[in-house]
Amino acid sequence: MARCVGQQQKLTLSKDLEVALVTGIAGVDRSPADYARMLRTLIGNLDGMVFRCRNDAHWTMEFVSDGCVALTGYHPEDLVGNCTLGYNDVIVPEDRARVRESTTLPDQAPGRYAIEYRIRRADGTIRIVGERGTPVLDQHGAVVAYEGFIEDITERSGYRMRIEQQANYDALTGLANRRLLNDRLSQAILRAERDRSRIAVAFIDLDQFKIINDTFGHELGDNMLRSMAERLTGCVRQSDTVARQGGDEFVLLLTGHQDSEELLGVIQRVHAAIDKPWQAGRREFHVTCSVGVAVYPNDGRSAEVLLRNADVAMYKAKSNGRNNFQFFTAELNRMMVERVAIEHRLRNALSRKQLLLHYQPRVDVSSGRVVGAEALLRWRLPRQGVISPARFISVAEETGLIVPIGKWVLQAACQQAMAWQVVGLPPLVMSVNVSPRQFRQDNIVQTIADALHDSGLPPRYLQIELTEGLAMQDAENHVRMLDEIKALGVQIAIDDFGTGYSSLGYLKRFPVDQLKVDRSFVQDLATDPDDAAIVQAIIVLGHQLGLRIVAEGVETDAQYRFLHSSGCDEMQGYLFGRPMDAAEFAQLITLNESGQPGVLQGGWRSDTLLPRRNQGRGLRQNK
Ligand code: C2E
Ligand code: MG
Ligand code: MG
Repeated sequence: MARCVGQQQKLTLSKDLEVALVTGIAGVDRSPADYARMLRTLIGNLDGMVFRCRNDAHWTMEFVSDGCVALTGYHPEDLVGNCTLGYNDVIVPEDRARVRESTTLPDQAPGRYAIEYRIRRADGTIRIVGERGTPVLDQHGAVVAYEGFIEDITERSGYRMRIEQQANYDALTGLANRRLLNDRLSQAILRAERDRSRIAVAFIDLDQFKIINDTFGHELGDNMLRSMAERLTGCVRQSDTVARQGGDEFVLLLTGHQDSEELLGVIQRVHAAIDKPWQAGRREFHVTCSVGVAVYPNDGRSAEVLLRNADVAMYKAKSNGRNNFQFFTAELNRMMVERVAIEHRLRNALSRKQLLLHYQPRVDVSSGRVVGAEALLRWRLPRQGVISPARFISVAEETGLIVPIGKWVLQAACQQAMAWQVVGLPPLVMSVNVSPRQFRQDNIVQTIADALHDSGLPPRYLQIELTEGLAMQDAENHVRMLDEIKALGVQIAIDDFGTGYSSLGYLKRFPVDQLKVDRSFVQDLATDPDDAAIVQAIIVLGHQLGLRIVAEGVETDAQYRFLHSSGCDEMQGYLFGRPMDAAEFAQLITLNESGQPGVLQGGWRSDTLLPRRNQGRGLRQNK
């Protein structure tokens, strides 16, 4: 569900829109109030909806005309500011990616677009609409909003589209039907054969649906199916297919998930999404599902065999007890079992005090001093010992456990940073990783403010690290949240920079202080000229945008020298120190600050931080 932005505005036309329209009516001399009234009448009489929406993930409406009610069944107050739902939620899930693409298609007349797609009205019926609009640009040329008109064209959209609609899509949910699924699966198999990729087919059956449907009636049952369809669509990428096979059976067709971890993640998300309570009136339902998965090519090479094997796996999942999953392949099954076990144990990790933080130094290149620490989460299990976040962060993300865990990390890291200052160590900037889910679910600004308040750490000594992907998704919303974080006085860094794809234009609008160049580029600096060029370009561009550049994962002298000569500002990596516990870290800082000759000239050792030889204007030698 979209987030409600801003208070409900009084539904008046935006001034811009009024002026723009009014100046188009020539000749007659009338007062502005006259024009405004005339415009409202004109717009009110249109058989469709005039709108202005933001260019964000929800298509947040800033203005919709009263035609909204006839078109969608929702009232303007529901849509404006996403107060009940976002317009993106009104668009049938299958069509959302296409709508987004069409608004930016280069082959449309410049500054205009026109598109036909399907919406689901408040009463559940599906209608075909035509939308024509114009992008609104800001002074940098970025599209900030769209203005246009949407009308119902179901009756006149012609035979072809209606026939296609009936033939390929499920009337109740708007999802792909069995026929379209088969088509897409066959296509996907051809592609996968060509580029030797994997496909997964997941059969999903709602566990108690039949009882609920029989007990509470078909209308409630239909609503539940629609909601579940919506939730499933939210679990996959836009390039994947969610289909309804009939009844309470859904199928996911997942392409391009090469990595087993990623695939397991989707299945876990499906369980978590269906598992969430579902509300109908005052009644709350807890639905669970059974999932069976078959993977191409291992579990079948044709659409028919894959679907059959996924179905077989699903029945096995059901017979193992509901709310279960089953992979056709034993290996994947074992991995999933392990993942679920991690989830169960992670639920208790906080209360059992099994989580701890390690700290890795960040070194300023020109002074050679440790100027910061990155807090890195560790989980100590009684039998396995300490395990790395690589094994559990994604599970924590998918289950939402990252929210309480992330809060704890922020609190503990701020307290540690303050404790070091209290015992007289020079103040360091503490970096804390914040995950996308924390951004979406938690009141992250408040959580950060609380951590600062509770620890007494001055805000300038805290830095939040966000991954590049997060910053770029739903950029509009994030700019706002980042501005609020920035207003607290906290620094912001983009982590793993270079692994996602950033629009540098956007970067300019983010209140970012640092870019952390991803370890993968640093790794091959000495041997891969492309990586070397990329890193140099990031440094130059970053500096032009006024950002400090940190290189991550610096392990060798050669990498250090290259980065140093390219103008990199700070470095982090095993060359300077591995992540270590708080006591070791304090010891290291004391050594680094003491500037003892033995330490200073003793060489880059992971436990000393300081250089073997004088490396030009580089790192600090004796004070
Ligand atoms: P990251 O934020 O990019 O952290 C850097 C990772 O690189 C750390 O792995 C660190 O130990 C490792 N590293 C540092 N220097 C070197 C080096 O010279 N060579 C090599 N090979 N590796 C190096 P770690 O601690 O396993 O963390 C992995 C990721 O887990 C982090 O990547 C971060 O995205 C995530 N993470 C860690 N702690 C937290 C946390 O508290 N909250 C959230 N949301 N994510 C966390
Ligand atoms: Mg990080
Ligand atoms: Mg990183």
